[in-house]
Amino acid sequence: MHDHSDRIAESWAELVDTARRTVADGLVVGTSGNVSCRIKDLILVTPTGVPYDRLGPGDLTAVDLEGRQIIGSLRPTSELPMHLAVYRDTSATAVVHTHAPYATAVSTLVTELPPVHYMAGALGGPVRVARYALYGTDELAGNTREALRDRTACLLQNHGTIAYGDGLGQALDRTAQLEWMCRVWLAASSLPGHTPSLLSPAQLDEARAKLDGYGQRD
Ligand SMILES: [Zn+2]
Repeated sequence: MHDHSDRIAESWAELVDTARRTVADGLVVGTSGNVSCRIKDLILVTPTGVPYDRLGPGDLTAVDLEGRQIIGSLRPTSELPMHLAVYRDTSATAVVHTHAPYATAVSTLVTELPPVHYMAGALGGPVRVARYALYGTDELAGNTREALRDRTACLLQNHGTIAYGDGLGQALDRTAQLEWMCRVWLAASSLPGHTPSLLSPAQLDEARAKLDGYGQRD
């Protein structure tokens, strides 16, 4: 059917579309997020500092799992260590990182997003906040690894979000779900004299089991 280079070109087009959607959906302002996807041992990744509407087929940027540049001359995103850490640890084929506003706000308030909604089950359970470290560092990649244990998304303290999935669509959808839950929690907890009710671990487990089953039938 398709040869390898066709598949890479198609994945690049999908990656650029996904990066543009993060801006269109209000999850990213300018070039403040980054997106990657994996084809075997090749990681396609957004380059640093290029607005997504200016990215074309000739800007294809790819590295190997050690971060060595394999394709392209543009410099890969500065958050490459964080993306690579996810690919080394998990079966992810796509990673989306954003500075989504509600999620970033929540990351300054708590060490774990209080489970106000069962969709936390779709992310593996209560969403943790990775400890702050300077952007683009191995330290931030390490903190993110910890926060992602048994989860498919987490918040980054005073920074933003990271989510992964099997495909760019799933990684983007998980990002949007996380941003939406952060928005819900902020709304519910901002009413003076009221405290949001939270789901118990058993209730979240039950929801996760049902969501997993749904995924398998798909
Ligand atoms: Zn960032």
